[in-house]
Amino acid sequence: MRPVRAIGALALVAILLAAPARADASPARVAALQSALQGLHLYRGYVDGIAGPLTRRGVLALQRRRHLAVDGVAGPRTRRALGWRGRPGLGSRAIRQGNRGWDVAALQFLLQRAGHGPGRADGVFGPLTRAAVVRAQRAAGVAVDGVAGPVTIRSLRGGPSAADTPTGPVRFLRPVDGPIADGFGAPRSDHTHQGLDFPVPYGTRVGAAGVGTTIFAGYNYGGFGNLVVIQHRLGFTTWYAHLSTITSWVGEEVVGGTRIGYVGSTGASTGPHLHFEVRRYDTPIDPAPLLLSTVAARASGARPATGVATPAAECAGKHREPRQPRPGADWIARERLCAPR
Ligand SMILES: [Zn+2]
Repeated sequence: MRPVRAIGALALVAILLAAPARADASPARVAALQSALQGLHLYRGYVDGIAGPLTRRGVLALQRRRHLAVDGVAGPRTRRALGWRGRPGLGSRAIRQGNRGWDVAALQFLLQRAGHGPGRADGVFGPLTRAAVVRAQRAAGVAVDGVAGPVTIRSLRGGPSAADTPTGPVRFLRPVDGPIADGFGAPRSDHTHQGLDFPVPYGTRVGAAGVGTTIFAGYNYGGFGNLVVIQHRLGFTTWYAHLSTITSWVGEEVVGGTRIGYVGSTGASTGPHLHFEVRRYDTPIDPAPLLLSTVAARASGARPATGVATPAAECAGKHREPRQPRPGADWIARERLCAPR
């Protein structure tokens, strides 16, 4: 036990000595590092800006591979070993479409954190990142040109904005009409279940769980099969996996209930069902408490449980949303649901 304690004390000293360099551990920098490591297949976690053991393990692996001092700290030499993914620093240039690198990944993380998309931080500034910059500039009330200069970066750096803070409960619509079989956290052979499974028949129509933009629509080789991912505000994404057919496309703007595909059994699936995930800042969370009960209640013929709001009840009641969602309004599923159609 003693050596472990000694190492702990040393680590504490190191942390204290390193205190002035704390900016190095800012979430955007950690996210850029995670993105770069991910690009080199050295990091399998989420780009969440949190420096945890997986991130450190990735740095150690890189340092070992490149015969650098193996200390787990992403200093200048380690950054250089990341190639184009390790430079330039955020703020050193106005970032625009066609750029790639460390600053692009950091920017993508900041955009994502503020709920503007683009859905992933891969260090490559494409059309979806540009669209996210435009959304962020509009929200911040700065000049809208799709180029992330100092003003735009500063507006994103201030931390989660008002628009990023839910002012009330966040809710999603059920993507299909049916019960839930396997819940979040159910045991699997080598991991726990990251979403909900709806065992509904092949060909069942799948609807978007709320207002957002499709950021992925295609085949995923990681086991999801035919997959649609929708970016919502406030840093949320919803995932619809194993589809037989995809009817949405990248860039499509959807509202709650928009058809995005049909249930199938593609990818790592043992039979027709919809695998549904909700992620916040790319980290899966339990969707069950966030789901409205309407569809399930209708399917079973039962009335919704007391105290569970349904869209119809909400639209009739005091929560009625204006035609245009207020900034900070958090009822993702309903944003335009209550508006006259
Ligand atoms: Zn599943």
